[in-house]
Amino acid sequence: MSKKELKFNSKAIHGGQQPEKGYGAVMPPIYQTSTYAQSTPGEHKGYEYSRVSNPTRTALENAVASLENGSYGMAFGSGMAAIDAAMKLLSPGDEVICTSDLYGGSYRLFKQVYEKYGIKFLFSGMLDMEELEAQITHNTKLVWLETPTNPMMNIIDIEAVAKVTQKHQVLLGVDNTFATPYLQRPLDLGADIVMHSATKYLAGHSDVVVGALVVKDEKLAEQLYFIQKSSGAICGPMDSFLTLRGIKTLHVRMQRHCENGEVIANFLKNHPNIDKVYWPGFEDHPNHKIAKQQMDGYGGMISFVPKGGDYAEAIKIVEKLEIFTLAESLGGVESLVGHPASMSHGSVPKEEREKNGVVDALIRLSVGIEDVDDLIADLEQALN
Ligand SMILES: *Cc1c(COP(=O)(O)O)cnc(C)c1O
Repeated sequence: MSKKELKFNSKAIHGGQQPEKGYGAVMPPIYQTSTYAQSTPGEHKGYEYSRVSNPTRTALENAVASLENGSYGMAFGSGMAAIDAAMKLLSPGDEVICTSDLYGGSYRLFKQVYEKYGIKFLFSGMLDMEELEAQITHNTKLVWLETPTNPMMNIIDIEAVAKVTQKHQVLLGVDNTFATPYLQRPLDLGADIVMHSATKYLAGHSDVVVGALVVKDEKLAEQLYFIQKSSGAICGPMDSFLTLRGIKTLHVRMQRHCENGEVIANFLKNHPNIDKVYWPGFEDHPNHKIAKQQMDGYGGMISFVPKGGDYAEAIKIVEKLEIFTLAESLGGVESLVGHPASMSHGSVPKEEREKNGVVDALIRLSVGIEDVDDLIADLEQALN
């Protein structure tokens, strides 16, 4: 049976990987080398310089590509480096349409770095396809979307957006960091590029900063490999190894993230001191139907607003939590809490973020895989 045909849980462990040829090492060794011996100029065993490629990184790139049902993977030194590489497909004058409540770092890269180079960024809720289509001009080259969105947990219909982008021959890139391929596989739904901050769920242990891109199309892959080696923001061998090790338990971690997430989302929803809870698994979530259709579960990311809460109230709650660690990031085995207005979305203007629901009192949880009773007890004490 070819490894391509394996089910997801097996691919998480074996996808795109073979025991190492030299000694049969089951885990790809950490090839901590910058260069490779050549017998005569140009004669080598497939690797010549580690910016171009490195066997440990190749193993990670193949594993991520396999999980996303793609054909080509590229691993970078961070999620932002992966997005940066995708943006380098563009030229001055090109336009990009992106989701309105974009990850703060992506917003900063687009507005404060790439706009300087003459690339224009437009924003869309991407909930109304006619509205999205009306924003497309002959300069539009890329649609960049996140779903679920951060931190508002909006769900965007990837397949519907792909129909629009394909009609207009515009590339579609999906930041799949929140959902992971365990819950959602954008390439199967018509996307051209999948991007990951592997720092989060893929690596899963809050011990590396890594990014990845996956594509199906050979030409697009060639362009991206060219950008990767030319710009050089690659993932090192040690971080490739750690990410690969994390990926091997992605499916069991995600299963528990989903289970704990559901219990906590319902706990918050029924808590008298909570005003709003954002989680796509609720039947009354405005995009629940699409979530149910395109995702295999709802994950452990939850945002909420305490009743009558303001900035100070939110700060008090996040400080009082003990098991939920107050920190940037998400997707690790440990539960984290964040305050988007002052942390992840600190670089988005207040007016812009409040338009998208990121109010001062909003709190975001990344529910970990601890015992859910302990997590509930922690939330209970902080909220009362
Ligand atoms: C963290 C994150 C990024 C950026 O990734 P880094 O690995 O921190 O560079 C991009 N998109 C989303 C949705 C993220 O959560």
